[in-house]
Amino acid sequence: MEQQPSSPMRVLVIAAHPDDIEYGVAGSVARWVDEGAEVIYCVVTDGAAGTEDLNADPAEVAALRQKEQRTAAAVVGVTDMRFLGYPDGILQPTLEVRRDITRLIREVKPYRVVCQDPTTILVGDRYVNHPDHRAAGEAAMYAVFPSAVVPLIFPELLEEGLPPHRIAELYMFVTLQPDTHVDISSSIDRKIEALLCHTSQVSPESGDRVRERSAEWGKEVGFAYAERFRVMRFEQR
Ligand SMILES: [Zn+2]
Repeated sequence: MEQQPSSPMRVLVIAAHPDDIEYGVAGSVARWVDEGAEVIYCVVTDGAAGTEDLNADPAEVAALRQKEQRTAAAVVGVTDMRFLGYPDGILQPTLEVRRDITRLIREVKPYRVVCQDPTTILVGDRYVNHPDHRAAGEAAMYAVFPSAVVPLIFPELLEEGLPPHRIAELYMFVTLQPDTHVDISSSIDRKIEALLCHTSQVSPESGDRVRERSAEWGKEVGFAYAERFRVMRFEQR
């Protein structure tokens, strides 16, 4: 079961693509915002590969997807958005990406970070996890620890006035080892509404599928609807 820290708490959600957050965590975000949390979104890639139109202008696709992401975030009460702008589809967990996320963690000082589980490769028998998801997850995980915690990793961040920060909890989605279900029964409609804001990417049927999956996950623990996470909890010093 989910542990509730004292409110208000700050949550930083990091994901590879515009729409990943809506698929994985927007229902929980809506609940956390309802409970007084302040939530910040960070999207690592520019989403420019998210089209099948070979004549599309990548810059236009990226701009459209950023707009869709802002609209989707607003549905669940999130207005603070950070776009790191790495090229979509070829993301690697480089030190540059890790430093950018470390900078953000030290600036935002979240209690909880949410990212994609970097250990997920194959999901069931019909989904190969997108390598960008793993790359964003790995960069975020190693930014959380050790990079955000150890002062002499990325010493340039100290010079920018950003001292170390230790988060309390790491929630990972797109995971094969879920150990925590968040009850999103009160926010499932907003989750689907947020998902459908990505009009260049999803259809109403995508919304139906996500609703069904959320119901299946809810059934596992007696909720009408749930999102699932693998959660790490770190000792606070
Ligand atoms: Zn994605």
